[in-house]
Amino acid sequence: MSAKQTLGFQTEVKQLLQLMIHSLYSNKEIFLRELVSNASDAADKLRFEAIARPELFEQDAELKIRISVDADNRTVTIADNGIGMSREEVIDHLGTIAKSGTKAFFESLTGDDKKDANLIGQFGVGFYSAFIVADKVTVTTRRAGQPASEAVRWESAGEGEYSIESVDKPGRGTEIVLHLKDGEDEFLSEWKLRQIVRTYSDHISIPIEMKKAPSYGEDGQPVESDELEAVNQASALWTRSKNDISDEQYKEFYKHVAHDFTDPLAWSHARVEGRQEYTELLYIPARAPFDLYERERKQGIKLYVRRVFIMEDTEKLMPHYLRFVRGVIDSSDLPLNVSREILQQSRDIDTIRAGCVKKVLGLLEDLATNRADDYTSFWKEFGQVLKEGVGEDFANKERIAKLLRFATTHGDSDAQVVSLSDYVGRMKEGQDKIYFITADSYAAAKNSPHLEVFRKKGVEVLLLSDRVDEWLAASLTEFDGKALVSVAKGSLDLGALDDEADKEAQQAAEENARPVVDRLKTALADKVADVRATARLIDSPACLVVGENDMSAHLERLLKAAGQ
Ligand code: ADP
Ligand code: MG
Repeated sequence: MSAKQTLGFQTEVKQLLQLMIHSLYSNKEIFLRELVSNASDAADKLRFEAIARPELFEQDAELKIRISVDADNRTVTIADNGIGMSREEVIDHLGTIAKSGTKAFFESLTGDDKKDANLIGQFGVGFYSAFIVADKVTVTTRRAGQPASEAVRWESAGEGEYSIESVDKPGRGTEIVLHLKDGEDEFLSEWKLRQIVRTYSDHISIPIEMKKAPSYGEDGQPVESDELEAVNQASALWTRSKNDISDEQYKEFYKHVAHDFTDPLAWSHARVEGRQEYTELLYIPARAPFDLYERERKQGIKLYVRRVFIMEDTEKLMPHYLRFVRGVIDSSDLPLNVSREILQQSRDIDTIRAGCVKKVLGLLEDLATNRADDYTSFWKEFGQVLKEGVGEDFANKERIAKLLRFATTHGDSDAQVVSLSDYVGRMKEGQDKIYFITADSYAAAKNSPHLEVFRKKGVEVLLLSDRVDEWLAASLTEFDGKALVSVAKGSLDLGALDDEADKEAQQAAEENARPVVDRLKTALADKVADVRATARLIDSPACLVVGENDMSAHLERLLKAAGQ
């Protein structure tokens, strides 16, 4: 047994603890949900590792969670017989925050408790939420496969530091003892704890056991029993029939799988039969996580095979442009020993993935049609990511194109609310193209001199100013049989939108300006490819255009900025 060691928390952990205790106090019972969620994850991990190493079960294969109360010592204990943690894991997981986006998160804090409580919800607080109600937390844990003498005890008052020492623990798994703060005695009530478990953790697939509720004898006195019983339904939520699952249960399950604090925006739950049999329960989050644009994302879709958790995958189960989707896929057909390598080239997985992509697109279409406000809020959070899909997912390009939303000259704000179908519905007589302009910012797009002639003719133009829009424009060349055309390219042909008068004006402009144009051509000979007179500009004296087949000026700037 090693001597007790005292270590300091990572700075971020200290900040997080402070913030959490203040801002989440009004919702303090969530600590139980978080600790139960972790215990359930630990059971999943053990079951997975035991596929290859069944001896890890150590004659104790019934995975469960146990919650108990010691009123005299004012403690609540949450114990599991899951995977447990080694000493290194304890230090890594309970002393630091490894999440990507952590720095950005702390920079975004405002100091206003209300706003920060929201932010912290998106960030997720997990284990540390124990300190909302406890002034000391003792974790005793032994990793499956390690001898009883290799267990670890971690203890902290949630201030600057924690202690860690080696101890004996015969049973595998983790036991967390919360020493309640003064004033938190309500959590000593088993009745209260049962209620919290039913509210937040009913969906957990293994039993959450507590002492049986007392029965009442004829004299009306409670008869206490030492028997244990499961408080939750203890079956995987996604295997239950839709009719038996309430919206609240769907939402709580989401918070568990996605490690999110906010309710999801929408979900799809279906059992799919056919070439591959599987159940999918997929969610669209309400808010973008901090690491949406980070390469090292950890969160994705959880893959189960016949109820056994196999892995959480960020690439193989959902395409990159739907990387915000969270949830579970449970296959009936894949082998239990499916590895990441096998997944990489599995046709079966491709079938499942294609089916799930269709479900998600269907879900988004349904939102767009029936819950317009929610779709607008979805678009604000994830629209830029969805736009990547037009170039990435050839098979679903049309469906994705219909889901796109843009700012246009029809409105006067940068809100992206116009669909391509809206645009087509408003096209002018004789108009056969969809016009767009790309720029660094909404303001630059809106004030471009290229738009003058379109304004004059009352023709709507899409104003594209997101980073991804150049790539979008390059991959989306037509919609509904109409070509998408940049207003800043070449000698723009307005087709039937130009009437005779316009053509005459153009000719006159060319004639009148010939001497000036010739002089400019000579003066700028090595700087431009051509100089042309135009009748299209109304307020501006001149503008730059790029050749029909050249990169747009904006794309050129982007590439330069990226060092290419
Ligand atoms: P998250 O669950 O989002 O990863 P938490 O703060 O809830 O974040 O937990 C941090 C980590 O601590 C977990 O990822 C896990 O590795 C470890 N952990 C927490 N509780 C347990 C437990 N009961 N058994 C095993 N590992 C645990
Ligand atoms: Mg957790």
